[in-house]
Amino acid sequence: MIRAFLSSVVISACFLTSSFAQQAADAVAPEAGSALSDFDTLSGAAQAALAAKEAGAPTTAENWMVAAANPLAVEAGAAVLRRGGTAADAMVAVQAVLGLVEPQSSGLGGGAFLVWYDANSGEVITLDGRETAPLAVTPTLFQTDDGEPMGFWDAVVGGRSVGTPGTPMLMEEAHARWGRAEWAGLFENAISLAEDGFTVSERMASSIAGGAERLQTFTRTADYFFPGGEALQAGDTLVNDDYANTLRLIAAHGSDAFYTGAIADDIVATVRTAAGNPGVLSATDLAIYRVIERDPVCVAYRESEVCGMGPPSSGALTVGQILGMLDRYDLAAMGPESADAWRLIGDASRLAFADRGRYMADSDFVPMPTMGLTADSYLDQRASLLTGDDALPEVAAGSPEWDHAMLLADDESLELPSTSHISIVDQYGNALSMTTTIENGFGSRLMVRGFLLNNELTDFSFRTQRDGLPIANRIEPGKRPRSSMSPTIVLSSGKPSLVIGSPGGSRIIGYVAQAIIAHIDWGMDVQQAVSMPHLVNRFGSYDLEEGTDAVNLEAALTDFGFEVNTRALNSGLHAIQVSESLSGGADPRREGIALGE
Ligand code: GLU
Repeated sequence: MIRAFLSSVVISACFLTSSFAQQAADAVAPEAGSALSDFDTLSGAAQAALAAKEAGAPTTAENWMVAAANPLAVEAGAAVLRRGGTAADAMVAVQAVLGLVEPQSSGLGGGAFLVWYDANSGEVITLDGRETAPLAVTPTLFQTDDGEPMGFWDAVVGGRSVGTPGTPMLMEEAHARWGRAEWAGLFENAISLAEDGFTVSERMASSIAGGAERLQTFTRTADYFFPGGEALQAGDTLVNDDYANTLRLIAAHGSDAFYTGAIADDIVATVRTAAGNPGVLSATDLAIYRVIERDPVCVAYRESEVCGMGPPSSGALTVGQILGMLDRYDLAAMGPESADAWRLIGDASRLAFADRGRYMADSDFVPMPTMGLTADSYLDQRASLLTGDDALPEVAAGSPEWDHAMLLADDESLELPSTSHISIVDQYGNALSMTTTIENGFGSRLMVRGFLLNNELTDFSFRTQRDGLPIANRIEPGKRPRSSMSPTIVLSSGKPSLVIGSPGGSRIIGYVAQAIIAHIDWGMDVQQAVSMPHLVNRFGSYDLEEGTDAVNLEAALTDFGFEVNTRALNSGLHAIQVSESLSGGADPRREGIALGE
């Protein structure tokens, strides 16, 4: 998609003099779906937040703020925060609505990672609500009869790829730990929208049109997204009574109503009877599902600590390694247009992704050098590889210190973007950063009781070993697939200064690292930082965002020796800066807003 650029924004910051930096401030033009007219039922405040985004300006607030991918979901969260609810309460309301209005990206049938800053204790706590491999999986689940990896889509569409969902229990766990509002009330907004109908957004409609064939594989899914055989269009009013009924049960009985009983039975039956590609999920898998509290991973960057989700996500470790290496270089002095700055960022990313591919997986199953990967001495050593003048000719995983002897082969798994990110700060000073997914757009394409089931198991490596060495991210019963989701809270002097995250498959890591650099090193406000053209390297080509001034760096990066590609880079960054007041930014590439008071 070639984007036009807004030209009316007055740039005040003195460093924003050249076209590349100017573009960072101006914002990539919002896609059609976020036009004001599509959301004309929104409150005045939400309309103003949309207008601010379209003008490339952050929204500001004194007490609380919520940023997410759809204005209706943001409004549901805002209503909770306005009534005195916490960030955890608001998340429940936001997630319940997202599952309805952005069903292609996240929902009850998926999983999520949540990073929480607790204002009372000053602690950062991370919760793992990742989908889990059923107990009956075998190493050959994603292999053909001759032991070769299955075709990706053959694996995705159907029951085979469905892991035990984690999102409903994560919502409940967060509410139980940090909520103040009554649980059932948090679903009211989503239930009304589902029963009375909501307006299908441009993004939802284009996702349906773009994936029409696979989406019509299963009757129940086809009937919902193609009523009367015709694809839903932007502006259509859509009712989802099944979803309203599911939410009512969860509102009345908690997540038990999801993990046991009639809903669970329906999930299991749907997965196991999926025509052509059944899965092995059982009632036991659902009944034993648990949200797991994990140690946060925090890495020092400049004056701050960048904290996020450890294994089974590779997010915080890889973002942390990239920033940890770059902390040894003065990116601020180089500025956002310096080719040399991007050489450093690109090669730091390649080095970090090499380690990710070799070492990162669910640490409950695979010994991982979690501490070693972000140890100062190791980051010094890896950062010293960046001192040359050209792109590194060869990049390989390093040898971090660890307490287990283990030889692993490099990973192989394909990750394609969908997913959604929620950032919230409440009036009590708590902060929540949660990235939520059903993996691929529309997940497994299987629909049960008004929501879609994930295809998260395809985040495992389809091969289990290479040259006799095991691959860390191989599938095993009860294991959680490695993720790239990077919900992040940056702390300055021990207090949150930035709450951020994004969808985007394994490019999430680059999007989040870049926005943090843009904000901390290049002084961009949160809207500029999320809008800025992307340059992402995942240990392959250097991807430059098409239609933006990022492509001006193509020649210089090619001269350094990078293989360079130009393409659409569809992030969905949602960020809140916390200082004396709050300042929010929503990615112009998606439909969301940041809204506060
Ligand atoms: N399933 C991916 C992960 O957990 C996220 C997918 C996406 O962002 O599109 O890393």
